[in-house]
Amino acid sequence: MPLLERSDWYDIARDTNWTPDFVPREELFPSELSDPYDIPQAEWETFDEPYKVSYREYVKVQREKDSSAYSVKAALSRSKFHDGLDEGWASVLKLHYGAVALTEYQASQFQARMVRFGPSPSMRNMATYGMLDELRHAQLQLYFPHELLPRDRHYDWAHEAAHTNNWAILGGRHAMDDVMMCRDAITGAIMVSFAFETGLTNLQMVGLSTDATNMGDFTFANMITSIQSDEARHAQLGSPAIEIMIKNGRKAEAQQAVDVAFWRMWRLFAITVGIPMDYYIPLEQRHLSFKEFMHEWIIRQYDRQVRELGLETPWYWDLLKDDIENHHHCQQGGIWSWRPTVWWNPPGAVGPREREWLEEKYPGWNDSFGTYWDVITDNLLNDREEKTHPECIPIICNMCQIPISNRPGKLWKARVYQHEHEGRRYNFCTEPCRWIFTTDPERYKKHESIVDRMYSGEINPPTLDNVLTYMGIGVVSEGGHDGHDYRWIDGFRAQAAE
Ligand code: MN
Ligand code: MN
Repeated sequence: MPLLERSDWYDIARDTNWTPDFVPREELFPSELSDPYDIPQAEWETFDEPYKVSYREYVKVQREKDSSAYSVKAALSRSKFHDGLDEGWASVLKLHYGAVALTEYQASQFQARMVRFGPSPSMRNMATYGMLDELRHAQLQLYFPHELLPRDRHYDWAHEAAHTNNWAILGGRHAMDDVMMCRDAITGAIMVSFAFETGLTNLQMVGLSTDATNMGDFTFANMITSIQSDEARHAQLGSPAIEIMIKNGRKAEAQQAVDVAFWRMWRLFAITVGIPMDYYIPLEQRHLSFKEFMHEWIIRQYDRQVRELGLETPWYWDLLKDDIENHHHCQQGGIWSWRPTVWWNPPGAVGPREREWLEEKYPGWNDSFGTYWDVITDNLLNDREEKTHPECIPIICNMCQIPISNRPGKLWKARVYQHEHEGRRYNFCTEPCRWIFTTDPERYKKHESIVDRMYSGEINPPTLDNVLTYMGIGVVSEGGHDGHDYRWIDGFRAQAAE
């Protein structure tokens, strides 16, 4: 039987718009869930996704991807890879699974919103595949760490993290709820499919999977690559939506959505990818510094994509470039110091050789971030481990929910960016985080940071033990300790002996 070429039937098959008889269209597609920009239906019908696929093709390819990922895992689960594995890499895995596995499940619900409320039939069609993609990603990233559970309870966070009030999870949830769970189909497509999936997931795909291969973790590298091949397809839902917005006089709204989401996602990726690349991965296995990677893959490419679409470079671009030199170094110091509050074992990993590498990649590192580690190193060398645990609580940003910090040393410029709204004072880490709040105070004003909760009575009494329990520490698993049991200071001992 002769079969038609896909291109002969595709346009007709995906044109599933109809004129509803029983309810008006506004009831079927309420603007707050569908399109709040009042763009005519005929305009949305011009939505043309660059990458086309039929259901038959989709299922065939996805089945092959899954069988490849699962068979690599099955074959390698008999290997000795995880015996005696460097805890730095184990920390990369624990952080990744805890932060990502159930976020993928949320992403499936986000895609489902486009499936149901997308004003364009081709958007609904493509998002159906996206929804199935994200379910697959959640399944992979729950199943793979499950095997590691008997070795280490920290892997339980792959499933449990999202159900806790751990400070790092509050940060992730605040951002993901904002861009993914609480937006209409169009704004969501711009924020998630374009700013997040086009803009930043390459960090994981190219950055983390290359490092995983260097580490010899082919199971993880293969899984990440398999996931990213889906992201690259459904990420293309964003640009046609932006083009239609610009054509219909909504450029300013599209620009704002892109800029808000990109900054929000950047703050998270700097921690989940930046710290692993520059600190957790053993020196011998690092391939690029996070900064080199950001400039090559994000700064240049994302900016070009934004401008090709007819938008502008985000207003905070210079601040972003500065943040690339700064943010993840601060957070490495912070997370390491508050290591009992996280579900992985962050290595300090700033011995003499590592510091040499950091100074080469980030000139001036020793004079700024190095001064923080000088004090810690001195305490560890002199058996004052207890002095490496801060007794205070850091001030937290009311947008990204991450401790407010900046460069130590001569270039010291730590400051809080404040904003008053309806009698409440909000604290922000940076100008963009404050700006995001002012774009939509109603959306953000009621949220309480983990520190707000200590003073509002939600964590009562706000003792260290209660705070840790509130965060899931000692409940899901014990908190973290230095991943290398402070072996990274041995190099300084050897230096002193010489
Ligand atoms: Mn995904
Ligand atoms: Mn996705």
